[in-house]
Amino acid sequence: MKIIVQKFGGTSVADADRLRNVARKVIKAKDNGYAPVVVVSAQGDTTDMLLEKAAEITDRPNARELDMLLSTGEQISIALLAMTLHAMGYPAISLTGQQVGIMTDESHTKAKIEDIERNRILSELNKGNIVIVAGFQGINCHNDITTLGRGGSDTTAVALAAALGAESCEIYTDVDGVYSADPRVVKEAKKIDEVSYDEMLELASLGARVLHLRCVEIAKKFGTPLHVRSSFNDQPGTIVREGIEMEKGRVVTGIAHNTNVVKITIKGVPDQPGVASRLFGALADREVNVDMIIQSASRKGINDISFTVGKEDKTLAVEVAQDLAKAMGAEGVEHEENVAKVSIVGAGMISHPGVAARMFKTIADTGVNIQMISTSDISISCVIDAEHTDRVVKAIHSTFIN
Ligand code: ADP
Ligand code: ASP
Ligand code: MG
Repeated sequence: MKIIVQKFGGTSVADADRLRNVARKVIKAKDNGYAPVVVVSAQGDTTDMLLEKAAEITDRPNARELDMLLSTGEQISIALLAMTLHAMGYPAISLTGQQVGIMTDESHTKAKIEDIERNRILSELNKGNIVIVAGFQGINCHNDITTLGRGGSDTTAVALAAALGAESCEIYTDVDGVYSADPRVVKEAKKIDEVSYDEMLELASLGARVLHLRCVEIAKKFGTPLHVRSSFNDQPGTIVREGIEMEKGRVVTGIAHNTNVVKITIKGVPDQPGVASRLFGALADREVNVDMIIQSASRKGINDISFTVGKEDKTLAVEVAQDLAKAMGAEGVEHEENVAKVSIVGAGMISHPGVAARMFKTIADTGVNIQMISTSDISISCVIDAEHTDRVVKAIHSTFIN
């Protein structure tokens, strides 16, 4: 059996016409001899609407109940797509994460997939059914529904492709592939034909939400090639795979930006051993992902520590910082939500000196101040004032991509 996994995002399944369009792509694969396993997201902005409903009730929804709520979005899509396929004369069955046996850890709202049962899917495929799986959700050891974090349906798809030994994994979305920058921000952005797992990991982790970070991690681990393409046309998209040659002089592959950033600063912390360990240990214990960290130089035995987290972790992170500030006798805690992170990514930058300098000069020429900087082997990131994000991304794109 030649299994193909096809994943369709929220815009691609937003209404009946689009569901019929998706069904046609699935049917084409089936008619070409594939056994399709289809993963779908919630329709349109359903997940945002569900989050708003929770926010109308409390600003601290219980994580288990939030997962119960959010998982309903995908359940609507799978049933509707199954009905669409039936109406078009094809056998199909929808399955929730629980029905498939997508086992996750216990961490509600950002669960990690630990194991996937193959039997139910394989037996449905053997019966000739097209199998439609709810993305973004799983089940933990207590039989409770978990979700995988925003954008997590990509991860469901790739994990299924790896578990089932699928011949290919196609991620259908609302743009033609992975671009050199978010095509909604930079009109001149170019579609990238092929990109390595490592560059894609970096782009995804730095905010290019076209692929969920963990789906790229799983694809790399299992060597699953991904094809990111449009659900609205038949053009080839972007292949993400291992062993892309260091491209023909491509120094910077892409520019990513992320406005889901909060900068938290603990001011006037006594400069003593163990402070950073206590702070970041406490944040890790509460499962807060910390991104950039800066500690200012010590002045008269005190310094400031700034770090960034995602907006979803703001309340928790500020609380942890305030507790520590109190315990350490620090001056106080400030947080800044009007910030964004702009990054360049490219494997070629290791062998090309001066890339950072060109990036900083470009930002300087826009008159925007850089608040924090971080680097890895293949990326450089700067935190700036959020209101200048688009302008800075465009300027950096025109410096590095032509
Ligand atoms: P889906 O619902 O199909 O999962 P997403 O909204 O999660 O779609 O991801 C697709 C979006 O990612 C695009 O509409 C685009 O605005 C955004 N995006 C950000 N960076 C990039 C990039 N480098 N290449 C392509 N799309 C990008
Ligand atoms: N519906 C979820 C979200 O909006 C998961 C996904 O679309 O991948 O984040
Ligand atoms: Mg997505």
